[in-house]
Amino acid sequence: MGKYWNEEIECMSREDMKKLQSERLAAQVRHVWDNVPYYRKLMEEKGVTPDDVNGIEDLYKLPFLTKADLRDAYPYGLLAKPLADCVRIQSTSGTTGKRVVAFYTQHDIDLWEDCCARAITAAGGTKEDVCQVCYGYGLFTGGPGLNGGSHKVGCLTLPMSSGNTERQIQFMRDLGSTILCCTPSYAAYIGETLHEMGYGPEDIKLKAGIFGAEPWTEEMRHEIERLLGIKAYDIYGLTETSGPGVSFECEEQTGMHINEDHFIAEIIDPDTGEVLPEGSKGELVFTSITKEAFPLLRYRTRDICVLSRKKCSCGRTLVKMTKPMGRSDDMLIIKGVNVFPSQIESVLLKVSNATPNYQIIVDRVNNTDTFEIRVELSDDMLSDTIKSIEELERKISGDIHSILGIKAKIRLVEPKSIPRSEGKAVRVIDRRKLV
Ligand code: ADP
Ligand code: ZN
Repeated sequence: MGKYWNEEIECMSREDMKKLQSERLAAQVRHVWDNVPYYRKLMEEKGVTPDDVNGIEDLYKLPFLTKADLRDAYPYGLLAKPLADCVRIQSTSGTTGKRVVAFYTQHDIDLWEDCCARAITAAGGTKEDVCQVCYGYGLFTGGPGLNGGSHKVGCLTLPMSSGNTERQIQFMRDLGSTILCCTPSYAAYIGETLHEMGYGPEDIKLKAGIFGAEPWTEEMRHEIERLLGIKAYDIYGLTETSGPGVSFECEEQTGMHINEDHFIAEIIDPDTGEVLPEGSKGELVFTSITKEAFPLLRYRTRDICVLSRKKCSCGRTLVKMTKPMGRSDDMLIIKGVNVFPSQIESVLLKVSNATPNYQIIVDRVNNTDTFEIRVELSDDMLSDTIKSIEELERKISGDIHSILGIKAKIRLVEPKSIPRSEGKAVRVIDRRKLV
């Protein structure tokens, strides 16, 4: 099989890809117009018909869809196939509100698993590998998606789901897992537990990890790579576009290649909706051009990133997106300053003796925001003097201030006092919402 899962597509010339996307887009717009009254109405309101969309140059004419539309149309309003043709639903993890339900035909599942197979292959996976999937199984797309991709590649698949971390490590050792798939926060937890059980990277056979479903920093990548002795790859996706595998990292690790034969990506200004030129930072918008049952057109992900067509050393020609460092709705506004939790993670992990376990607590006292960061100390810090602990506090506080321009109260807490995550980590406790 080699380096690519589907070389013809992954290394296709830009011209051929545009042609393929244009054909698929025109057909998809007609399919949606004919079968989804909800979207047809949005098109009519904008004065667009399928005759106006002949190729990707016409994409801008179509209306956007947002999460609010998905909630409005819940559960069947955006379904484009008879329910009898659907074989599965999946649902969002509900990180930011009411769940969204997505529908799949067998064909949709096949294409989704194919995207995940590309990701596993790009991380060096082949049929010789043992792939341990510890994303949650069930409604969450992580488990089923990577499970399907792993089967396609022909890996021996361990459908572990998340949780029971000591058992994960036992299986990892007994069955010689070589690839680990889970959220980055769970990967860090597994790494930590491995060391607590008295083992190290030399006691396991893992070589690569495929981690996604939540934002994570380069510093977190290095921490996981160190703990588990692996190369850690990023993977991105969302339930609304099938699940993980919309984009994936290759060995160059400078962004994730988007599976453009299935998804057309745009970057827009989140305030005006204007399409921005390549290289601009903005909100990522996806149009799925192959999905049958739940084909969203111009779906606003709220994820903020940058697209790049710079030539990649892996040979893939698929456009790359940078790691989304949080969604527009993950952004906290503290004392009027925009703060992404990932900025804080990045500061913390650059400071030695801090761990990737942290929590951000925001409150409002007497009409003023309070901003506290709890950071867990590493075990070896415990024996240190109060003075050196105070120094560490000052160092973190100074670094946060210089990056964000506002002061945070740093509280160093005992090892193991911050809850670990087996799925998507909850980093922020914003008590202001309760008022
Ligand atoms: P929910 O919206 O409930 O979290 P999903 O489970 O479908 O539902 O999550 C999709 C979202 O997860 C994406 O829109 C994105 O914000 C985040 N995400 C997924 N993969 C990554 C990744 N590799 N890096 C950063 N964020 C990611
Ligand atoms: Zn590449």
